[in-house]
Amino acid sequence: MAEEKKSLNFIEQIIEEDLQNGYKKEELKFRFPPEPNGYLHIGHASSINLNFGLGLRYNAPVNLRFDDTNPIKEESAYVDAIRKDVEWLGFKWEKECYASDYFQQLYDWAVKLIKAGKAYVDSQTSEAMAQQKGTPTQAGTSSPYRERSVEENLELFEAMKNGKTKEGEHVLRAKIDMASPNMLMRDPVMYRTLHKPHHRTGDAWKIYPMYDWAHGESDFIEEISHSFCTLEFLPHRELYNWFLQQISTTNDFVPKQREFARRNLSHTVVSKRKLAQLVEKGIVTAWDDPRMPTISGLRRRGYTPNSIRKFAETIGVGKRENVIDMSHLEFCAREDLNKTATRVMGVLDPLKLVITNYDEAKEEWLETENNPEDEQAGTRTIPFSREIYIEKEDFREEANRKFFRLKLGKEVRLKSAYIIQANEAIKDENGEIVEVHCTYDPKSRSGSGTPESKRKVKGTLHWVSIKHAVPAEIRLYDRLFTDATPDAHKEKDFLEFINPKSLEKITGYVEPALQKAKELEHYQFQRIGYFCVDQDSSENQLIFNKTVGLRDSWAKIDK
Ligand code: ATP
Ligand code: MG
Repeated sequence: MAEEKKSLNFIEQIIEEDLQNGYKKEELKFRFPPEPNGYLHIGHASSINLNFGLGLRYNAPVNLRFDDTNPIKEESAYVDAIRKDVEWLGFKWEKECYASDYFQQLYDWAVKLIKAGKAYVDSQTSEAMAQQKGTPTQAGTSSPYRERSVEENLELFEAMKNGKTKEGEHVLRAKIDMASPNMLMRDPVMYRTLHKPHHRTGDAWKIYPMYDWAHGESDFIEEISHSFCTLEFLPHRELYNWFLQQISTTNDFVPKQREFARRNLSHTVVSKRKLAQLVEKGIVTAWDDPRMPTISGLRRRGYTPNSIRKFAETIGVGKRENVIDMSHLEFCAREDLNKTATRVMGVLDPLKLVITNYDEAKEEWLETENNPEDEQAGTRTIPFSREIYIEKEDFREEANRKFFRLKLGKEVRLKSAYIIQANEAIKDENGEIVEVHCTYDPKSRSGSGTPESKRKVKGTLHWVSIKHAVPAEIRLYDRLFTDATPDAHKEKDFLEFINPKSLEKITGYVEPALQKAKELEHYQFQRIGYFCVDQDSSENQLIFNKTVGLRDSWAKIDK
């Protein structure tokens, strides 16, 4: 493939400008800062790809930073899951960092701010504070505690830290400007009291820093050059800079916050909080349910790291929020799996076919290609015998000329095997076809080199030998939501758009080579789609998840 000359995206342009204006290349450093309050989703993949992608591009370190400042919702199980997902996507972090490792430093800086008259303990209720905030066009009013003495503030703050005060009794606020046009600058809360154990610091802390106070300071401690976050943090930038000004000296290298647009995916929700509801309410089985837009759900469904990275890469970074159609993600999966997935035989809706001129006692192992897209993939053999399954929809008694599958009196090729002709449809008392009798042309075996083997017939069908077939549970998935943007409706909750038919379990029949298929192996069931071995699968009970069909089955419906 020709080398693609890509133009710089706006984030890369920012970095290039900084390099021209005196930043040194060695100073570049990035971070991916998830809060461990849930599993990573496809939206995070964009941020991961952006930050780690920049690391690769500029040969700069990238930290994995857990933004663990809220013990109420955070757990170490989420930390483990996040670590696993970033690794699986193929990225390496320089350091594994935790905002909670900086609690002491943050506390010391807060004390410094109090001493400088830049922070105070407010003892009002949160309602009273909210009332004083004002509106974007109207200045707020000062708290009656705003002018507390430094001594009293220090004393109270220490009491908060030591758990001597109750939750909700006091907060520490930065003393900035109650008339600022930016509401976030109107004396934002820096600390709150929470008598909750933290998954890493245990009971050591009774006060926890707020996002704005912790994030920029963590960036500063780690010497991050560019701190990229999503657009909703644009108004926070002023506060980010204000806090950094208070703690840095003129010689310090100060990080820079810049914003990019969140990426959303159609027919799902990308918010940990909402995904947590799906798990809690039992709408899905777990965070890694193959219907979930989580990295772990996509992995279990059969998506590859390549396909997810390619997805993030092609949608790129932007300045405006948008919804990417699910079909684009599916396209990326097909493109990658087409190159890598082993082609196998699997019949999902079986119809019995008897080859009446094939000896009952005979069986043959026929050679077939593992992947015509990959010469290295080699070949294997598949068993053929007198009775085989084909898909029910591949046979009709009569059909028009455009039906290139099997019909009475006509021929098709059985993939990697013989040309057969259908002679008779056997029906049950309800008139339903239960069996089709055929004859085969013994000279027509694929690859045998005979003139008959080269004979062109219009249709080729997949099949499995009944005697050798292994039953398997096949899980077929549809979109989890019936609406393209389930959480964009003002008057309806996103849960009202759950697709009741998002999962169907059926029994299919696969060739015996799959008996030993291992978790996460990818296969193309020929003419059907891509399938992945589920984690609950075993030799005794094979389970396959359908990743995606060979073609976009939604294209027609959506348009
Ligand atoms: P959620 O609402 O799902 O919890 P979040 O932004 O609160 O998302 P964080 O764990 O704080 O989740 O996110 C880590 C990083 O990933 C942040 O820099 C955040 O901006 C980015 N991110 C989160 N969601 C998306 C998205 N949909 N598109 C792009 N980046 C995202
Ligand atoms: Mg969050």
